[in-house]
Amino acid sequence: MRASNFISILLSSATTTVQSFITQPLRPPLIRRKSNAAGIMKKMSGGNVINDNTNEMMELNPLVSSIKISATVEIFSLVKQMEAEGIEVTSLCVGEPDFPPPKSVLDAAIKAIESNETRYTAVSGTMALREAIANDLQNRKGVTYDAQTEILVSNGAKQCVYQGVLATCGTGDTAIIVAPYWPSYPEMVALSGANAIILRTQRDNGYLISPHALRSCLEENKEKNVKLLILCNPSNPTGGVHSKQRLEEIADVLEDFPGVTVLSDEIYERLVYGDKLDNGHFSFAALSPSMRARTITINGFSKAYAMTGMRLGYMAAPPKLLRAATTIQSQLTSCAGSISQSAGVAALEAVSESEMEANLLIMKEKRDFVVQKLKAMHKVKLAVPPTGAFYVLPDVSTYYDGDDVKLCVELLKKKRLALVPGTSFGAPGTVRISYATSMQELEVAMDKLRSFLDDLV
Ligand code: PLP
Repeated sequence: MRASNFISILLSSATTTVQSFITQPLRPPLIRRKSNAAGIMKKMSGGNVINDNTNEMMELNPLVSSIKISATVEIFSLVKQMEAEGIEVTSLCVGEPDFPPPKSVLDAAIKAIESNETRYTAVSGTMALREAIANDLQNRKGVTYDAQTEILVSNGAKQCVYQGVLATCGTGDTAIIVAPYWPSYPEMVALSGANAIILRTQRDNGYLISPHALRSCLEENKEKNVKLLILCNPSNPTGGVHSKQRLEEIADVLEDFPGVTVLSDEIYERLVYGDKLDNGHFSFAALSPSMRARTITINGFSKAYAMTGMRLGYMAAPPKLLRAATTIQSQLTSCAGSISQSAGVAALEAVSESEMEANLLIMKEKRDFVVQKLKAMHKVKLAVPPTGAFYVLPDVSTYYDGDDVKLCVELLKKKRLALVPGTSFGAPGTVRISYATSMQELEVAMDKLRSFLDDLV
């Protein structure tokens, strides 16, 4: 069964598809596309098919028909719909912390509303937020950025990634995407008109980039105008974290390929479970002045501060790249929400390190629990436990002949447990588990998964 069958159960309008790569849609899609899995889901949810009475003559941009809607967003919508119809579902699909944003963040948002901070801001964000970001990058990551010319605030890190791709890649160019990957990367590259080359990583090496494989990939594709390497560190969906040493080895390779920009998506950098908590993340741009000069650092407030709905992220990059991304943003969304930006300043300036550490400890306990449960499950392979983000990507390829989509459909049907098929992340035979939920929910989910797999043996 193909992932697209599963994830396109409910097909939204083309606009919603494009929007899902820019600002994360919150409304469920309206139109159903026929598929095997759609039938299963329809039976399960008892939902009604909404007729698509769009004008037959209407032609959509072919680029749009070549891209897929975000799998996690799609499955999340389906789970919400099932829940609305009274079906109780345990969902470990979505990448969203279950705790609320810190109180100081909420207070700052309320204050911003009460003091009428409701106007457009500068396209690149308020000076207060850009300065807070530059200070944070200096203090915690040891890399200096000019708040005036090198920081761009957007409606979520997702928008920053897309603008980074658009600023560097176009028709005839190539971007290297490391698999398993966050599903938006290939679709954003496709929307830019560029080609994507997938660089595979191995489960037994914790899905980290092998510098040797990267060199071969760059050499083999020398003629293809490779403009961009997208690095997700810590990784969604593997939870893998590249050490400083591994990043240095990657940088050594890149020194021989000066035309390649690195888009370093570090949105999970606050969620690293080293021996000593949070000591394990190193920013790519902090490696050396030459790497800084070709790096687009992406970060945001969704994962570290649970501010997903506030839609706030940022990019830090040298002025030329920053100006290009700012120009794109000026024609797309103008600026991030003014209220969210005030909340962002509070996140960086008023939330104590001890509060951040307490959340990290809770997340680490959840990671330990899920890893321990998975290790005890029959024929579930997890070579290297994840050390970052809040995802695990176990290999379940011994079931259903490696058809992870079928496994997820059956799991949802039989146990009402929602996981995302690994195929969506370029990792067939795996499933992605997000453990950013309550311990109670995790216990139920792990019991369901265990009993589901036991029944198959
Ligand atoms: N990058 C990665 C790897 C992600 O997993 C996500 C969200 O799931 C984002 C970027 C986008 O985050 P946001 O747009 O909520 O800031």
